Amino acid sequence: MAHTLIADVIREETLLIGGEWVPGNGGEIEVENPATEETIGVAYKASADDAEAGILAAQAAFPRWAATPVGERVALLRRLGAVIRDRADRFAEIIHREQGSPPALARKLHVDVPLAVIDQTADALDSFEFTRQIGHSLVVREPVGVVAAITPWNLPLHQVVVKVVPSLAAGATVVHKPAELTPLTAFELARAISDAGFPPGTFNLVPGSGKDIGSLLTRHAAVDHVSFTGSTPVGAQVAAAAAQTIKKVTLELGGKSASVILADVDDELLTKAVKVTVANCYLNAGQTCTALSRLIVPADRLSEVEQVAIAAASKYAPGERLGPLISATHRMKVLEYTEGARSTGGRRIDTFDQSALPDRGYYARPAVFSDVDPKSDLAQDEIFGPVLSILAADDDQHAIDLANDSMFGLGGAVWALSEQSALQTARQIRTGQIDINGAAFNARAPFGGYKRSGLGREIGDFGIEDVLEIKSVQR
Ligand code: NAP
Repeated sequence: MAHTLIADVIREETLLIGGEWVPGNGGEIEVENPATEETIGVAYKASADDAEAGILAAQAAFPRWAATPVGERVALLRRLGAVIRDRADRFAEIIHREQGSPPALARKLHVDVPLAVIDQTADALDSFEFTRQIGHSLVVREPVGVVAAITPWNLPLHQVVVKVVPSLAAGATVVHKPAELTPLTAFELARAISDAGFPPGTFNLVPGSGKDIGSLLTRHAAVDHVSFTGSTPVGAQVAAAAAQTIKKVTLELGGKSASVILADVDDELLTKAVKVTVANCYLNAGQTCTALSRLIVPADRLSEVEQVAIAAASKYAPGERLGPLISATHRMKVLEYTEGARSTGGRRIDTFDQSALPDRGYYARPAVFSDVDPKSDLAQDEIFGPVLSILAADDDQHAIDLANDSMFGLGGAVWALSEQSALQTARQIRTGQIDINGAAFNARAPFGGYKRSGLGREIGDFGIEDVLEIKSVQR
């Protein structure tokens, strides 16, 4: 990727509200590159009045957009996919610089995956059944109204696309508040939506802090649905605020996903399982909500697993394959688990040399702990960094119990030679997604969490359904 597509310091001074690019009146956000600690952008924030204007523009645009023929919405979604595809290198470069992902990952994970989600949403909309006959009732699904999308910094394009695109597909209108740490990607997406030809007011961008703009959106009477992705504690605050006006909520929250190796695996599958788990755990420097951060293995294979894990982890050199953590504050939190008070729950076995860390940037050494106590902070907390905890299970049932011993229920993996026991195990693990033997992400399958990992589902047909109301018409 050539680093010539964007200015040294990007300035985003105007917000998209009601189809116009208008000045932001809420002050500035300085955007830092977490790999270099340099300021790489300035974005203007929405004031409370700007956010109000964004909500009212979405409300005004709703009746016409909701009545748009489905075929027109499908065509606009496909045009949006084409616009982003044309600008994919630019998106990847912005994400590389504001979120810190290495360039290849910025393209493959951060841009290509949301592009697949857009294509699949257009396909899902094309064949979506908006009506159904039940006895003498015509049951119709209708868009919910104004959706407030509040998103995190870890996947600054994908987390927005999985909310905004199904909402627009359903005929809802959107007000988006991106994370303060990564607003530049959100401006670029707003430009793409506008350039694709979506009608004025269908999508509005109101950047700002969670405390000011986020909480305003969750309380505002004209917002019908809040779609939030972020941490579990903030998700609980969002749900409580939204409850005051009985808004619908979608919550995509934290995770502590388990990769479970069953006792029947041979050496080849065991090696693959450990390598894929390490890669998944360290993806995006461990800052993915579905990170396989717990590896649960048969106790009698522990030393074999440790050898493979140490070798696999040693290939994640910070500054090369492993990007930085998002901020100095976040790195301090992660270091508490790897070097500090919360690192006592297991035996640290990785071999990466501390002195090889880059001089600048919020990098952390990739960590592997073995023999981790299932009740320890290492095994229970979402660390959101490159930290793998290996837990030993006495048998397959114990492995399932350990996997379920978590307040979260987002993702997971199962590894087994027997397809039947893999499937049975997958059914017994209480999470929203499970991959058997390394199966790939499906950009049309529903995505969401059990337990404290969330409420509702995003992506594909279920993502569209999430932002629809249901009406029964008796005839
Ligand atoms: P966060 O601190 O919860 O923030 C998420 C978003 O909420 C940000 O835009 C934030 O604004 C905003 N916010 C903060 N306080 C708010 C309030 N009182 N009312 C309304 N909005 C508020 O999470 P994060 O640190 O950005 O992201 C990491 C977390 O996201 C992890 O726990 C991760 O597991 C989770 N996540 C979940 C999924 C999933 O699909 N389940 C996917 C990705 C990430 P500002 O930060 O800009 O102030």
